[in-house]
Amino acid sequence: MPPVPVSFHLCQPGGGASCGACCGLYNFQDHSRFMLAEHLSIQTERLRHTPREPAAYRDAAQELLARRPQQPLFPAVRVCPLLGFLDDDRRQVGCLGHPKVTGGVDLRDCGVYRAAICETFTCPSFGWLTDAQARLVQAACADWYVYGLVITDVEFVRGCLRLIEWELGGPARPEAVLARPEALEAMRRLLGLKETAAREDSRAAVFGRFTRDTEGEPVPRTLDYAALGARAAPEDDVVLCLGHTPTTAEALLAAREQVRTRVRAVARALES
Ligand code: SF4
Ligand code: SF4
Repeated sequence: MPPVPVSFHLCQPGGGASCGACCGLYNFQDHSRFMLAEHLSIQTERLRHTPREPAAYRDAAQELLARRPQQPLFPAVRVCPLLGFLDDDRRQVGCLGHPKVTGGVDLRDCGVYRAAICETFTCPSFGWLTDAQARLVQAACADWYVYGLVITDVEFVRGCLRLIEWELGGPARPEAVLARPEALEAMRRLLGLKETAAREDSRAAVFGRFTRDTEGEPVPRTLDYAALGARAAPEDDVVLCLGHTPTTAEALLAAREQVRTRVRAVARALES
């Protein structure tokens, strides 16, 4: 049976999950939660006090671009100054130029793309994740920071489920994880490794499994097993997706063990 495609809108699915990845949210070398929250707060504050009309929004956008604390990690990927927090508690990330946010006027042309592009764009996850996988990510990553990191990394989601299947010796159905609170909590800790790795390796010029080429474009990276003096292991795809940059065999083993421990916890919860 072919997989069921995603049936809901991945950008603002509710339940605590929201995403601004394609607006450039994470496109900084230091994309830790702390840095991005600071960045979004500055943009939110500036636009909160800006008249909701194009000239004022354009000026604010220019000023925010000039004040940006870090340059983009991948220069070809735009970072929009209209991205901010939609709520007072700063738990939902989204577009501050969207008509639903401004109260009617569409100010998205003042950002880094045309409004028509913002309105119609869907990232590859809409086609590559199954509905059940996307629902699992929504439930396990009910948070503005982790959700966007995970929902846009199809290889990571598939890789985690594949490791759980190997551990179980049989299928790991997202629906089964969703149905068991202990399994969902263990899944939250596994997928949440995205945040741990971003914090630990915030000085590396990588984003998940990508690094920069000489032109500043994202290119997939690999582990140099010969230099590390290590052999490949099933966890390594997930280790790369997490953004780890091990320079010793010990560091690689430690990263694998983090993954393995959390995978086993999900499998145990599913078997209990
Ligand atoms: S990266 Fe995908 S899920 Fe995230 S806001 Fe863009 S289109 Fe939506
Ligand atoms: S204007 Fe477009 S790119 Fe900018 S935050 Fe809004 S949706 Fe994202």
